[in-house]
Amino acid sequence: MGKRKTKPIVAVVGRPNVGKSTLFNVLAGEMISIVKDTPGITRDRIYADVSWLDMSFTLIDTGGIEPDSKDVILSQMREQAEIAIETADVILFMVDVKQGLVDADAKVADMLRKSKKPIVLVVNKVDHVEKYMADVYEFYNMGIGDPHPISAANRTGIGDMLDVVTSYFNKTVSAEEEDERIKVAIVGKPNVGKSSIINRLVGENRVIVSDIAGTTRDAIDTDIRYNGKDYVFIDTAGLRKKNKIKEELERYMIVRTVSAVERADIAVLVIDAVEGVTEQDAKIAGIAHERGKAVIIAVNKWDAIEKDNKTVNKFTNKVREVLSFMSYAEIIFISAVTGQRLPKLYETIDIVNENHSMRVSTGVLNEIMAEAVALQQPPSDKGKRLRLYYITQVSVKPPTFVIFVNDKELMHFSYTRYIENKIREAFGFRGTPLKFIIRERK
Ligand code: GDP
Ligand code: GDP
Repeated sequence: MGKRKTKPIVAVVGRPNVGKSTLFNVLAGEMISIVKDTPGITRDRIYADVSWLDMSFTLIDTGGIEPDSKDVILSQMREQAEIAIETADVILFMVDVKQGLVDADAKVADMLRKSKKPIVLVVNKVDHVEKYMADVYEFYNMGIGDPHPISAANRTGIGDMLDVVTSYFNKTVSAEEEDERIKVAIVGKPNVGKSSIINRLVGENRVIVSDIAGTTRDAIDTDIRYNGKDYVFIDTAGLRKKNKIKEELERYMIVRTVSAVERADIAVLVIDAVEGVTEQDAKIAGIAHERGKAVIIAVNKWDAIEKDNKTVNKFTNKVREVLSFMSYAEIIFISAVTGQRLPKLYETIDIVNENHSMRVSTGVLNEIMAEAVALQQPPSDKGKRLRLYYITQVSVKPPTFVIFVNDKELMHFSYTRYIENKIREAFGFRGTPLKFIIRERK
């Protein structure tokens, strides 16, 4: 344990009704991580964390709402494919054996083939292998490699399919692991100033062209050397989509955010000072929170509002209220237009980056826990009292602790939070979430 691996991204592309959601649900299963009180996470399954053997990846469903005409289907699939090409390490292209090879599939296959991304062609609804095998072979005509038959509904063929998908992972993961740059995702709603911030940072510093070649997604990465350190800013502004319906825009924004955040250690959540903090901001923040990234909330356009000596406090309180699930996040007030406090942005990035990978020795942790327990008695239930035996930090990014107790049921969320606060009192850990795993030891 220790070093965090960047989780690969697998995007699912396919026509409506081929069974994408069904597969998604099978793969996400109970593995889907639901963080309480995080907005937007449980409502729509646009993405999910999947584990297979000793590997894990993030699955993204690029499919949108159901279109009603053939033309719309094709154009929507092209967009799905575009998102997948841009964000995914592996593309899972799903077709339906019962409908056979249709024109739209062939066209999208051409597009995907040109991207040179690994593609896994999955033929769904092969409920009886003998009966349908001849039809499965027909999909060789798409020219994107072997068709892999599955039945999402019956959960057959899934293991073989996952073996193929995960076989593509090693290369991408190791390339990113050796990367020593500080990776910062700039996330936020449209028009909050993400591109302006990056442009401003670029304007003041030399830009180094990324040397990881061959992947389209590097096009949205900006390398900057500042004060002798290398940073890469991962942008989610990227392509602008016109004439899109609201749901599609939202899905697109979420997919882009998940993919950017996944590749970063730190998320800078940009909020528009003029507009104030909104539920949509909270939804984006939830993505970084759920993924255990360090978070900086950058309130941008600070030049554009009228201020008195209470403005900062008022704004801070409002942000803390709407984003109450990430009280650890740092807040700074900046302006991409005037450049106000952009040096402070770097400073804050450095601090939260250190905290995100900070290790505390087991001895000190146990001292803190013993003191905390002495100060506030652990809860009990039906005559049985919670006992905390031992705490140790098992990994970083984010700092993750295991606490051994006599009975997991007795370890209420509020007591874990209390221990967390004591650790924060001692070490700060500002800007980073902390993760606690409760284990029983009899
Ligand atoms: P999506 O639009 O691609 O997300 O497709 P859905 O997952 O909603 O599935 C569309 C339909 O196909 C639903 O009625 C599913 O029950 C059905 N379906 C999904 N997987 C299978 C399968 O493996 N076999 C059969 N026979 N039907 C399936
Ligand atoms: P993005 O969609 O998040 O990348 O936002 P942009 O960087 O394209 O900015 C959206 C609009 O906000 C543009 O008109 C910018 O000029 C304006 N803007 C961005 N940053 C600031 C700022 O710090 N102050 C002011 N007053 N306007 C800003």
